[in-house]
Amino acid sequence: MKNKNMKIIRNTDDLRQQIKVYRAEGLTVALVPTMGALHEGHLSLIRMARAKADKVCVSIFVNPRQFGPTEDFDIYPRNEERDIKLLQLMSTDLLYAPDVDEIYPETHSTSIQVGPIGDILEGEYRPGFFTGVATIVAKLLMQCQPDVAIFGEKDFQQLQVIRKLVTDLNIPSQILGCETIRESDGLALSSRNAYLSEDEREIAPELYKTLCQVADAANGGGDVIVSIMQACDRLEQLGYGPIDYLAVRDVKTLQHMPDGSEEGRVLVAANLGKTRLIDNIAI
Ligand code: AMP
Repeated sequence: MKNKNMKIIRNTDDLRQQIKVYRAEGLTVALVPTMGALHEGHLSLIRMARAKADKVCVSIFVNPRQFGPTEDFDIYPRNEERDIKLLQLMSTDLLYAPDVDEIYPETHSTSIQVGPIGDILEGEYRPGFFTGVATIVAKLLMQCQPDVAIFGEKDFQQLQVIRKLVTDLNIPSQILGCETIRESDGLALSSRNAYLSEDEREIAPELYKTLCQVADAANGGGDVIVSIMQACDRLEQLGYGPIDYLAVRDVKTLQHMPDGSEEGRVLVAANLGKTRLIDNIAI
């Protein structure tokens, strides 16, 4: 049912006030942080939020501090009007859409580093990325103080970084992961897929196929290193490059799998033309 009364809040004081009202009514709150340009992946998080709490708060904030100087902050897709319509259709209770000055006034100087889990994989190729992510997520959790916050497994390392952040800083919100939503050909939905040319879009689903092949090798007791090497060759032949990483890692620490470790994750980041695609699956 469309929620024409969805509240749109632009500053922290008003957000706090509204959350106080919910609390006074004895209602629970779920937060879904996003950078907008909403797609079915985001909507699945909102559905999960609805199932977990009485009130659903979605934030839209394109966080400048998680973009490197040569990255796509300026051209990142933004369409608030469309996002608002979608959120209303999803019966969202509250949209928190602060501007950059509200989140980072000139005096703002604190940032959060999560340690080794933030330095590997994405952290290696995007220095400062997880410091930016950890800082904004900590701020949003402090501002909204939700009972539960929902994140996508699409950004699996980000999800584990946030779990670590919340544990280490004793932030009293439960963190839940929501499975990756894909196109019918396997490509994980992402706001950045909009950058793909028609030809690149044809090749893009090969990334997921590759993950499945490596996962099959790992699950079947095959030689994982050989399968990763073959997979990288295949991706390069298809036109991908550079491939930043394709790795099988321990699900919790994202470090190399210790012997006898049962739960792993295959993670990949690869460039296709100007678009950097990331994806992962469980093994
Ligand atoms: P973003 O707007 O890209 O920062 O993403 C906001 C949230 O949506 C993050 O928790 C993402 O992991 C999640 N998300 C993005 N794409 C997908 C997807 N295809 N499936 C599930 N969750 C997603």
